[in-house]
Amino acid sequence: MISTCKNCNHHFKGNFCNECGQKQAIGTFTFKSIFTEAFLAFTHADKGILKLLRSLLINPGKVAYEYIAECKRKKYFNLFTFFVIITAVAAFVENKDIVVKEALFKVDNEYGQVFNVYSKVLTLLTIPLLALALWLINYTKNGLRYSEYTVFAMILMSVKSIIDIVARLVNLLFTGVFKLYTAVDENIFYAVFLMLFMGYASYNFHKRKIKKPWFRSLLSGFAFCIIQVALIIFIVWAILRNFNGLGIFSIYGISNR
Ligand SMILES: [Zn+2]
Repeated sequence: MISTCKNCNHHFKGNFCNECGQKQAIGTFTFKSIFTEAFLAFTHADKGILKLLRSLLINPGKVAYEYIAECKRKKYFNLFTFFVIITAVAAFVENKDIVVKEALFKVDNEYGQVFNVYSKVLTLLTIPLLALALWLINYTKNGLRYSEYTVFAMILMSVKSIIDIVARLVNLLFTGVFKLYTAVDENIFYAVFLMLFMGYASYNFHKRKIKKPWFRSLLSGFAFCIIQVALIIFIVWAILRNFNGLGIFSIYGISNR
């Protein structure tokens, strides 16, 4: 039986439109179909957000390799959409963490306020720089292109946002519920963990392209943290100090003003 696609008007046989992929049996919205759509968006075994979240936490390098080098673009939830969602959620949770701390402990966290406003900008600024660093560190003749490293950098920033969200939720739990000032993300072990985790991601991303990439991977993880810190220092210097003086190092509580 030939049917007409409701999405693109293409005539086709079968259950899915072979032009745009929409299902043949799509009807008007009912509460049942709304519930099903919403439920599937989160849990769908193949392409759901939860599956992607789990895969990114277990083996981010593998997800990135499949997506970028093996062109498995439909295996996971759309990674560009995911980046936008997770960046927004991370900014929201970060904001809550800062607001709760300021209300409870009366800390005037000027850095916190600045990053509250600029954390999304920071994430976006990081991507081209991180991509360049990763491309140079892992450069081999049969290797990947800078454009592909841009996508890899975006995936790594999504992973960082997930980890940030977990850390900020721990902060919120201890600060909000138990009234203990907690800043997991300001701990040096947090930075070390991020560095090693990004190195691990880089290792699994490169292991089929580069022989024994462990040293380059460690360097990649290190570059990840250095670029973050450099950009944070730059933003503090540019915005809080108006490009003036050396007060930039007062971040991370080394000195106050
Ligand atoms: Zn169609």
